[in-house]
Amino acid sequence: MSETSQKSIFSMIVDREIPADIVFESDRIIAFRDIAPKAPVHLLVVPKTADYRNVTELAAADPALLAEVVATAQQLANEHTSGEYRLVFNTGESVGQTVFHVHAHVMGGGLTEGSLGLG
Ligand code: 5GP
Repeated sequence: MSETSQKSIFSMIVDREIPADIVFESDRIIAFRDIAPKAPVHLLVVPKTADYRNVTELAAADPALLAEVVATAQQLANEHTSGEYRLVFNTGESVGQTVFHVHAHVMGGGLTEGSLGLG
């Protein structure tokens, strides 16, 4: 992170500067419940590094870390719902990205066809 850029809300959660309902943590990843859930189960899986603003940057720079994000999503879906899940990476302001620290939305627990949008 450059000295001029602001620390992301997710980095503050990683550093325990703001609270979150954390459901998983490893060396490189943290996962917690979304504060405004859009599904019965709505978790955020977040690489701890603030180096990547979105999934495109993450995939290009560290595909192994992206694979860890996906494996974590599956593990959490197994633990918190049926094992089936929707994985969403918003990429860009115009599609609703609000936090520019790469994160996966893991959603499950009774979603139906036609509810693809978060809103
Ligand atoms: P985006 O729209 O950038 O893909 O997703 C950001 C998500 O982070 C939103 O679903 C929003 O509800 C969630 N969020 C924003 N601030 C906080 C926070 O302080 N704590 C938690 N747990 N979730 C947050």
